[in-house]
This record gives sequence, structure tokens and C-alpha cells, in this order.
Amino acid sequence: MQSYILGIDIGTGSTKAVAIALTGKALGVVQNHYPINSPEPGYSEQDPLLIWQAFVKCMRDITTKIGYAPIAVSFSSAMHSIIPVDEIGTPLSPMITWADSRSEHIAQELRASAQGPEIYRITGTPIHAMSPLCKLIWLRTNKPEVFIPTRKFISIKEFIWLKLFGSFEVDYSIASATGLFDILKLDWSSEACALAGVSANKLSTPRNTTYHRDDLNPNTAALLNITSKTSFVIGASDGCCANLGSHTTGPGIAALTIGTSGAVRITSPSPVYNFEGMTFNYLLNQDTFVCGGAVNNGGIAINWLLQNFLQKEKLSPADYDELFATIDIIPAASNGLIFLPYLYGERAPLWDTQTSGAFFNIKPTHTRAHFLRAALEGVCFALYDVLKTVEDASVNITQVNISGGFVSSATWTQVLADITGKKLVVLQPEDASAVGAIYLAMQVLHPESYDQLTHIDNQIVIEPNAQNHEWYSKLFPTFKKLYRDLMDSMHRLHELDI
Ligand code: ADP
Repeated sequence: MQSYILGIDIGTGSTKAVAIALTGKALGVVQNHYPINSPEPGYSEQDPLLIWQAFVKCMRDITTKIGYAPIAVSFSSAMHSIIPVDEIGTPLSPMITWADSRSEHIAQELRASAQGPEIYRITGTPIHAMSPLCKLIWLRTNKPEVFIPTRKFISIKEFIWLKLFGSFEVDYSIASATGLFDILKLDWSSEACALAGVSANKLSTPRNTTYHRDDLNPNTAALLNITSKTSFVIGASDGCCANLGSHTTGPGIAALTIGTSGAVRITSPSPVYNFEGMTFNYLLNQDTFVCGGAVNNGGIAINWLLQNFLQKEKLSPADYDELFATIDIIPAASNGLIFLPYLYGERAPLWDTQTSGAFFNIKPTHTRAHFLRAALEGVCFALYDVLKTVEDASVNITQVNISGGFVSSATWTQVLADITGKKLVVLQPEDASAVGAIYLAMQVLHPESYDQLTHIDNQIVIEPNAQNHEWYSKLFPTFKKLYRDLMDSMHRLHELDI
């Protein structure tokens, strides 16, 4: 029997349990889904009890599959959720997820206010509708019947921890993504709490991400099909865990994902501030920040083009290969055709919900393949913009670890390498968040096992083409300027609502 640790990743659509032995061997994965509800436009809500049930089922399924109990369980979870609860943790209204945009106008006002830069500097969290700070202001203003009787405002991970141990505790990582936490003092920020209209006693006790408990009561242990000797590590948020789980913690290494959306993240000993670009700064542990930015328009912008103009409704891997093969003959920089990919508004580094997409500088020589190449380039330029924002405020980035659906395409990843001019390393980071949670548990409970794990074999490396990078370096300033030049017109059209 190999001793193993379970990493639990509480995601937006499902909870996953990943089992890894102390030797590093993967032993199994199980997953259980739950719904997201949208009772009104812009709302994104979930029932926390369904998520608890999915967690219990994951625990029972994986331990049954493996045949014996883990030595430890450690948590990763989605950020920015908020559940108003009473003194024993009963929800007083549905959980509001990160994707809920009802507090958008509150975020806009706060960002533009005199207090905006200070609140951002203290909390490290972008001032955006996703942030629990903005959600609390919305609840206080719009739902006093919920806000006033609430005893604690907690996230989904705190809800599950409460059900396990009966106490309100939150890890530094989840706390650091609330917009209410002082990321340098490692405690709730009085300034942010005053803005939200809550005192610190309405929030949980902050703990380091390696904090663990070994006092699970026998009834709960029986429910989870484990023993009460199993240690529970509180863990971190999914983004922070993913950097650790994908070995993206060294200096000068960034993680870049393009899936439906996209993100760039580095780890840093200090926050990487940029108020304009609103880089995020979330804690992986008390000494380490995960800093970066997320974009809305990743693969979703490419798929819009493929589905609407290339008559591809459902795309198979062969369809992607066939379509992307057509652009290999088009030169880098698409003969001057530029695509702004901001179809779905944009987060970092623009923070502009009213922006839109654009093709620019169309000439009679441009073909269908030019449009597709320009679209891939536009998405990569937008992520490069975030990468540069982070790099300019921190250290030189020499390696970019890539993940997400786009890594299946050699064409697309080469475009990214050529635009960034960086060495790319392909990661297969399935379950990187759950694996990161397991690594946090190993660091504190079995450091000798963790030390033996940090080597990755068989890396796929993509080197940039120097000549293409030179072309892209010439084009990038125009890409950036184009947004600024078009911004007013985009906003005016947004207001016309036609
Ligand atoms: P999610 O973020 O929703 O988990 P994925 O990481 O699966 O999404 O990435 C989905 C995106 O990846 C799609 O929108 C598409 O643009 C891109 N993609 C998926 N499969 C391929 C492929 N075989 N070749 C190139 N791109 C792909």
C-alpha cells in the first residue's frame, strides 16, 4: 500500500479529487459536476450544499477506487466566491461566483475614485465585479435583508472547511483574492472592510496555506470514508496552486494559458503593482505572491471567427489542424492586417467592459487565411500585452510555460513564441491546481517527498523565430495604439446600443 495525498480542486463547474502517492505516482482522479444558475442577466449563483455533496462523493469515490484512506487531503478552490451565512454556517442566500457581474458599476466607480489606487495597493486585487469587495457593497446596498443578519461572509472553501471542522478559517490565498485583505500585513484591511461595510469579525480567521488540522471527528471521517487520523491542509486558490503544480515557481518563469479565456501568471517574492493594468497579486503562501492578469478573449475569440466565417460549428482536432495549416504560408504579421480580439470586453490590461473587436488595415491582397492568422496573432498580442505589463513591473521573463486548449496547435504556439520572443515549454497541466494543493501538503507534512518531485522530464520546447519576432516587435506598438485610437468610438457605439 502506497501512502497517498488527495488534492481536492473545487472548481466552478465541478469538484475533482486527484490522488498522488508520496513517490509522485498518480493513483487516480474522480470528478463530480454541479450547476451554475443565472436567475437574472449577469447573475452567476450556485448552491453551496450541492458543492459539499459533490466533495463528499469525490472523497467516497476515490477512496473506494483506491481501496484505503489517504494520509492527507489538501484543497485548491476557485477564487472570489461569497456566501452570506448565519452563526452555524447556514447559507442565507445562494453563493455568488467569480463570474457574477451584478456589481460592475460599483467596481467602475470605485476604480475611478480617489480611494481606488490605495485599495488596490493594499489588497493586490483588481477592482472588478468579480471581487468580493464589490459584491459586498452590492449586497449592502441592494439586499439589506440578507446583508444585515449575516454573521459571516465566506467563500466556498471556507464553507467546506466549516462543515469539516466547525470553525471559520480561510487561507491567505483565498483571502488575498477578496479585495478585503492586506496582502503585506496578512490580515483583513480596515480600509477595505470599511468600504464594504463589514467588520473583520464578519470574516474568517486567516491562516497560512500550509495550515493543517488533524482533529476530524469520527462521524465526518466515516461520511468521507477515511479515518480521523487523516490530516487536512487548508491549501490555496486554484490559480496559485496551478503555478505550484506546474512547477512555475522559479524566477523568470511565467505560466501562460489560452483556453476559452487566457491568463499570465508569475510567482514573485513581492507584489507586482500596476494600477492601470491592474495586475493581480494573490498569495501562494505567506512569502510568495502569484502575480499576473487574466483576459476574456482567448480561444473564445478564435472560435467565434471559425464558427461564423469558416462554417465550422463543432470543431474536431482535425478541423483545427486543417484550418490552421492554411495560415502557415501567410507571413508573420499577416501583411499588416491587425485584429483586436476584444469581442467580449476585456479585463487585463484594459479593464474595459465596453471595448469590442476589430480587423484593421484590410487590403485587397488579404485572403481568408490572412484573417485567420491575424486573429491568432491578435489573441497572442493581447496576452503578450499582459506578459509585458507583468515583466515591466518585475523581472525579465526567460521562459513561458504554456497550457490550455491552444497547445494542441503547433501553428498557434509558434505564433505565440514568435510574438513574445520567449522560449515556450509545453506543460500537460491537467489537474495542475489539485496537484499544487498536494504539493502544499507535501511541503508541510512530507518535505523529503516534495524535494524529490520537482524535476520534469520530456519537456516539449518551442523556440521563437528571431526574424518573425522582429516583425512582430515592429507591429506591437501599432496594435496597442490601435485600441487607444478606437476606444472612444467603441464606447460611443456601446452607448448607442445598436
Ligand atoms: P477551457 O478554458 O474552457 O477549459 P480549453 O483549455 O479546453 O478550454 O481550450 C479551449 C480552446 O482551445 C478553444 O476555444 C480553442 O480555441 C482551442 N482549441 C481546442 N482544441 C484545439 C486544437 N485541437 N487545436 C487548436 N486549438 C484548439
